[in-house]
Amino acid sequence: MEQHLMVDRKACAGHGLCYGAAPELVDCDEQGDPVVLTDPVPQARIREAQHVVDMCPERALALEQAQST
Ligand code: SF4
Repeated sequence: MEQHLMVDRKACAGHGLCYGAAPELVDCDEQGDPVVLTDPVPQARIREAQHVVDMCPERALALEQAQST
């Protein structure tokens, strides 16, 4: 099932741990806010995505399964 890396921009503090740890999954914009590069997350990178979710000190990242219709 497809999974999506979601950013809660209100919770994000913009200190860049996520895009420093997983630059192929997350980049940053001019303001330093994270930008998800791959949506959905490729199956081979799910563990990496879960790692950045777990490491975010603000709990601003989430890995969510696509809703079935
Ligand atoms: S690690 Fe979390 S708080 Fe820090 S920039 Fe990434 S999403 Fe924002």
